[in-house]
Amino acid sequence: MNFDIDRLLRRNIRNLKPYSSARDEFSGEAAVFLDANENPYNSPWNRYPDPHQRILKEKVCEIKHVPTEKIFLGNGSDEPIDLLFRAFCEPAKDNVVSINPTYGMYRVAADTNNIAVNQVALTSDFELDAGSVLAAVTAETKIIFLCSPNNPTGNTLDNCGILQIISNFNGLVVVDEAYIDFCPEKSLLPDLDKYPNLVILQTFSKAWGMAGLRLGMAFANEKIIEVLSRIKYPYNLNILTQQKGLELLAGEQLKNEWVKIILKEREKMIRNLLLYPFVIKVYPSDANFVLVQVYDPRGIYNYLVDEKIIVRDRSSIALCEGCLRISIGSPEENATLMEAFDQLI
Ligand SMILES: *Cc1c(COP(=O)(O)O)cnc(C)c1O
Repeated sequence: MNFDIDRLLRRNIRNLKPYSSARDEFSGEAAVFLDANENPYNSPWNRYPDPHQRILKEKVCEIKHVPTEKIFLGNGSDEPIDLLFRAFCEPAKDNVVSINPTYGMYRVAADTNNIAVNQVALTSDFELDAGSVLAAVTAETKIIFLCSPNNPTGNTLDNCGILQIISNFNGLVVVDEAYIDFCPEKSLLPDLDKYPNLVILQTFSKAWGMAGLRLGMAFANEKIIEVLSRIKYPYNLNILTQQKGLELLAGEQLKNEWVKIILKEREKMIRNLLLYPFVIKVYPSDANFVLVQVYDPRGIYNYLVDEKIIVRDRSSIALCEGCLRISIGSPEENATLMEAFDQLI
């Protein structure tokens, strides 16, 4: 495999000099800051946040065992997804390859950037066919998007297949591990050094319970991270997100307890769902949701809305005919859902 980041980058990005903020040019200790046209009043909100998120990155480094040069922090995972398109894909010319079905943001980011997506169907049991993914690559393919555990199917993709794709593609392979904490399979993070073209996405939105803070991560070799950092908005993470994120990251044990409860609830939810006559199939899940095939998905969806319970109707998505996607809630919330289902029979 021949990975050359300069060949892959768009020319305008290769030559781009980033905006240099006041906080870039001076970042030490000082008593008086008169360099950024800030208001001296209304402390601490008057100050711009650290554009490099140094303290927060140190904490992420400690939790994920990845050096800070290989970490990008963004406004959710959605930010690095968009930045990867902007850095590597020439509009109206290049393309990306993704599996189908998968997370909808890859497609939205592709459309926003006027990039074609070559979609490769998963098998009928949602497995990855690495050969078909590699066969969909053209000379203009810059990125392959994989998602494991996959959304909305819930299954982990075959690890050998993922590694086969990473090893046999000259462009970037993005592996989205948003649900990795709920999954028995290990993260690819320890393999980062082996694969210069691998980008791993994770997020604090799911297992860590911080969806409202908007804090996502990309891990990759330092050259890729340098490019993403160069083209991001200088102050992409505000003070509140950086401070509250740091505070909540001290609670890893709490996160682990939540995951344990959610996994137990997931198995209970699966067992219970199988008892209803309107349920055709419950797909196995390595995530904090289950995909359920039912008779009359729209009718059940609307019934639940009337009961003030909202699930996700995925029945119009490829390979997901008749399917609802149900997030695992608290034991009380899950019991409420089951009570609503009881009234249907
Ligand atoms: C929920 C989810 C994310 C998280 O997105 P954020 O922008 O970090 O909240 C990323 N990828 C997938 C596949 C998801 O389902």
